[in-house]
Amino acid sequence: MDNSKLEIDRNIGATAETAGVSRSPSDEPMDQVAPVNQLSGARVKPQATASQAKDGGGVRAEELAPASESSGSRMLMFESSESAESALMQMTPKKTTFDDNRDGKGTKEWSDFSYNICLGCEHECLYCYAKAMRCRFNKAMRVPGAWKKQRMSPNKKALGAEVGAKGVVMFPTTHDITPRFLRRSVKTIKNLLANNQVLIVSKPHLSVVRVLCKELTDHKDDILFRFTIGALSEPLCRFWEPGAPAPTERIRCLQHAYRKGFATSVSIEPMLAAWGEIVKLVARVEPFVTDTIWVGKMQRIPRKYNARVPGFEEAAALIKAQQTDADILKLVDDLEGNPKVRWKDSIKKVLDRRVAVQ
Ligand code: SF4
Repeated sequence: MDNSKLEIDRNIGATAETAGVSRSPSDEPMDQVAPVNQLSGARVKPQATASQAKDGGGVRAEELAPASESSGSRMLMFESSESAESALMQMTPKKTTFDDNRDGKGTKEWSDFSYNICLGCEHECLYCYAKAMRCRFNKAMRVPGAWKKQRMSPNKKALGAEVGAKGVVMFPTTHDITPRFLRRSVKTIKNLLANNQVLIVSKPHLSVVRVLCKELTDHKDDILFRFTIGALSEPLCRFWEPGAPAPTERIRCLQHAYRKGFATSVSIEPMLAAWGEIVKLVARVEPFVTDTIWVGKMQRIPRKYNARVPGFEEAAALIKAQQTDADILKLVDDLEGNPKVRWKDSIKKVLDRRVAVQ
């Protein structure tokens, strides 16, 4: 999965091994989620009635006017049909889609909620922010090879069945869907699909994608595959993502999902190569992308936990040298006008800086 800039559950600090749902700090804990709209089953934000809204007051849905249960659905009583309509419009949750422009960063730029079932990740990317966060709070994770021992989270036995209607759910964010966890990942995705659209983000294995396409063929409208490919160079990818499939395999996965009629997308974040190579990569994947190609810089590089990796400092220095503002602006100039390309927050910041100096 893509995760150079993941948002990690704050619970990691307290219980490093217990966090399976990755939430941004602004997310509510599971037991504090907003009330459920009884009409649609979807989560609603607390809203004010028309009269309370005038006063600038807010009220939770269950605190609104008494409900009539006679029709089997929850009907709310209002002073006038106009105020009822207005309040109901406020209560009706806006159904989010894959296309929505989200203000959030990291996983929140793409989805409303993140879900994971594993601890650790077989792909063991050197830039993995999820690993860095776990290492920070859990000494056992700092032992070489510990992160690579991907295993089921003891807290995720329900495999997504406990997740209500969240909108677009990104799965996974702090591990990947490897062949060993495929069966349970399929079950999880199906459970999440009961109430949501699912954004599947992965550095994909062909054997995995073949099964996913077969098992999820009836859910094409509610699934978007987003495959992470940071460079075309196999040695480069092998260095930074030693446990993940080679870029050629990931492109075959993209082609397979595309030919099977699924919506497809690519994440080039973090970029592992110079801007000219990234332009070639975009050209290579574009014919098989129905949706978007997201491009983002490598941001924080966890040096501390990679200190003993031969060649790490040189590789990190090269990435930094290739991602100066001048390089990024050349990339933007080259890809400007490509309707599928989207800039991640890290590149938008460079564009903002350009505007600031003009
Ligand atoms: S190690 Fe796994 S979770 Fe971390 S960036 Fe790589 S694929 Fe994603």
